[in-house]
Amino acid sequence: MLVVRDIQALRAAAAGPLAFVPTMGNLHEGHLSLVNLARGHAKKVGVSIFVNRLQFRPGEDFDSYPRTFERDCAMLEAAGVDLLFAPDEKVLYPQRQDFKVEPGPLGEDLEGRFRPGFFRGVATVVMKLLNCVQPVAAVFGKKDYQQLLVIRGMVRQLDLPVAIVPGETVREADGLAMSSRNGYLSAAERAEAPRLYRLLHMVKQGMPPDRAMQELAAAGWQPDYLEVRRRSDLAVPGPGDKELVALGAARLGRTRLIDNLEF
Ligand code: AMP
Repeated sequence: MLVVRDIQALRAAAAGPLAFVPTMGNLHEGHLSLVNLARGHAKKVGVSIFVNRLQFRPGEDFDSYPRTFERDCAMLEAAGVDLLFAPDEKVLYPQRQDFKVEPGPLGEDLEGRFRPGFFRGVATVVMKLLNCVQPVAAVFGKKDYQQLLVIRGMVRQLDLPVAIVPGETVREADGLAMSSRNGYLSAAERAEAPRLYRLLHMVKQGMPPDRAMQELAAAGWQPDYLEVRRRSDLAVPGPGDKELVALGAARLGRTRLIDNLEF
């Protein structure tokens, strides 16, 4: 696996069709499943590790976000990744980033209501990464469902020549979606954490989302939202809509977890 730190070295190394998986590191099986999916879309697979300051607000966990570069490298090497792009902040943001990608209303809904500017930060860094790596395909997890839709919309509306490939959410045995932030949970919180996914299942089976929010609150969570939306564009579904997704976000102690379930 070739590890490159700057854009010049990346451009030289990324010649030929490449499938790309952007990450913030602290890798787990969910990330590796995206790497495996990427392999079906090009001969060479590239991964990036970059904790993107632009998508964190003051008071969020930018500074404490787990950085485990050596371990991540070993995992990617073992997974047969060809190229790792791991830029410093100075490489991707050599000057203040004044030009940003504005996702519009989709970016202000759901997650965007609770993390203003989050999707602007995500779209901007993904745009930059796609321009640097120039992959034929890029893989994004459904774990971050709204993010996947924002990136799809960006690629479509800005005519970027890349195929966006969705990857299924990889879960722990008890249903908890794998996440780098799961490491923040205490043992008691870790035991409680699968409730979010269980309640998404109950909403799928007909429980009103407000009631599911109340159950989370009663179990000690601070829920931000739990809603049923249309899969294609996350609009509020009408009576004829059949392809739905339940999405939820809630804080458990100091850890904010998100999850979703299609139905
Ligand atoms: P992150 O490192 O959290 O920014 O995530 C990098 C990519 O991995 C994103 O496309 C995520 O949606 C995806 N991802 C995160 N967790 C999972 C998971 N449990 N299963 C599948 N993909 C995931």
